[in-house]
Amino acid sequence: MVTHAFGHAGREIPAIGQGTWYIEQGERREAIAALRRGLDLGLCHIDTAEMYGDGRSEAIIGEAIADRRNDAFLVSKVLPHNASKSGTRAACERSLRHLKTDRLDCYLLHWRGPHPLAETFAAFEALKAEGKILSWGVSNFDEDDLDEALAAAGPGAIACNQVLYHLRERAIEHAVIPWCERHGVAVTAYSPFGHDDFPASGSAGGRVLAEIAAAHGATARQVALAFLTRRPSVFAIPKAGKVPHVEDNAGALRFVLTEGDLARIETAFPRGRKPHALPML
Ligand code: NAP
Repeated sequence: MVTHAFGHAGREIPAIGQGTWYIEQGERREAIAALRRGLDLGLCHIDTAEMYGDGRSEAIIGEAIADRRNDAFLVSKVLPHNASKSGTRAACERSLRHLKTDRLDCYLLHWRGPHPLAETFAAFEALKAEGKILSWGVSNFDEDDLDEALAAAGPGAIACNQVLYHLRERAIEHAVIPWCERHGVAVTAYSPFGHDDFPASGSAGGRVLAEIAAAHGATARQVALAFLTRRPSVFAIPKAGKVPHVEDNAGALRFVLTEGDLARIETAFPRGRKPHALPML
């Protein structure tokens, strides 16, 4: 199984996890079965946010992990407008109630907002001292944001940066991934399938994925996930509301692409130029 050290959180976890944005819009029992099947297969990193369904996504996860909290590496996020000193605490305690747990493995600032980073980070540190969160990080931070965050937090404090990363959106490779690797910060790739815009099997890129997949006895999505998590700093959190999709995604943990495969994917899905601003979904 491909596992990576999750930055300053001090945990080694599988490179593939589970996203949960809009799971509350599907069938509840199916979503719970999918999350539990993912845990069986090692997809322990479950990503959520107070924003997702206004707490309903967290509530579904709470039900899915009720009898197996220790199997999960649970990550949630505070909304930027809630990220004041008292607001961060209130949001975290609300998330813990929804999730029916006493702790988060990692707690993130969803994106930058009106409150000073130092204030949010002080709230994170207070929650950490109380054991309500075991580590904390940021999301949608570009390299300038990361410089500011490091100045506010000091070294060794920021566990991860969760950012948009998929085959057709590789902007973070220019500066964000190198920055995170220099500072021991894990990178979590969100929307790894392009938020339901995965390369079609009939497209030129889709054909390359299919050929590589066939050579490994794998699927195109497994090849994509293996490519995105090819560096030990990067994790991916595909959202899958159906058991067969979760099983497919977990298959990415069982193989490593060859140098030749990597070169073919690089050519089929070029990285492009460094953009002016970090893309967000
Ligand atoms: P995604 O993971 O790129 O794609 C999800 C879509 O792919 C769903 O329609 C899902 O279908 C489908 N899918 C998953 N596995 C599949 C498989 N093996 N075969 C075929 N289809 C498959 O999209 P995302 O939800 O935007 O991103 C993933 C997670 O990242 C989110 O859920 C959230 O946790 C996080 N996120 C964070 C931010 C942020 O600002 N920090 C922003 C966006 C997303 P089914 O559901 O029907 O299985």
